[in-house]
Amino acid sequence: FQTVHILGVPFVRATMDDMVAIVHERVKQQKPCFIVTANPEIVMKAKEEPTYMATIQQADYVVADGIGVVKAAELLGTPLPERVAGYDLLCRCLQLANEHEYRVYMIGAKEEVVQAAAQHIRNHYPNVHVVGVRNGYFDWNDKTIVEEVKQAQPDFVFVALGMGKQEQWIAEHIGMVGRGVWMGVGGSFDVLAG
Ligand code: UDP
Repeated sequence: FQTVHILGVPFVRATMDDMVAIVHERVKQQKPCFIVTANPEIVMKAKEEPTYMATIQQADYVVADGIGVVKAAELLGTPLPERVAGYDLLCRCLQLANEHEYRVYMIGAKEEVVQAAAQHIRNHYPNVHVVGVRNGYFDWNDKTIVEEVKQAQPDFVFVALGMGKQEQWIAEHIGMVGRGVWMGVGGSFDVLAG
């Protein structure tokens, strides 16, 4: 897949269906994969903070989360096929996980929120194995968390620590686990929790 740069952020020229196919392939290969769903706020933050830009550039795929990014690409004469919203991609990943009984690890949000989001997944995607649930208020240097993720052998690791923090946490830890499709999901656990 080609990429389109917007203020230095490399967006993949892929549709939602393309992304689901990519994700499925990566899960089957048991290779780690870091996906960033970038909205205009993330692009601006990356433009202003070189360390954040470097984090984003470590991602395997950056997708256009928001019509603003799609519009900007069009104005630059390098159009992207469509918006790939983070929440929608999360739901498609959960569908995929439900179809194939994949293993999902959830990190982030408040304890009651992440527990409710996990319950929602168990109710609506009964074949998904929720192999770990952990709130997002932990010490950054607490290595037991990444150890637990590794032990759980997840196919997906969804991280809801807010924009910036979640991408940084993924970039720092994905290599230690060595498998799974990892994605920052912002406020999506709050949405799933209802
Ligand atoms: N969050 C967290 N730990 C933190 C900061 C935020 O778990 O240290 C969670 C927060 O509870 C919420 C999610 O991250 O469920 C998204 O937060 P926010 O809406 O502020 O993020 P953004 O809109 O920037 O992605």
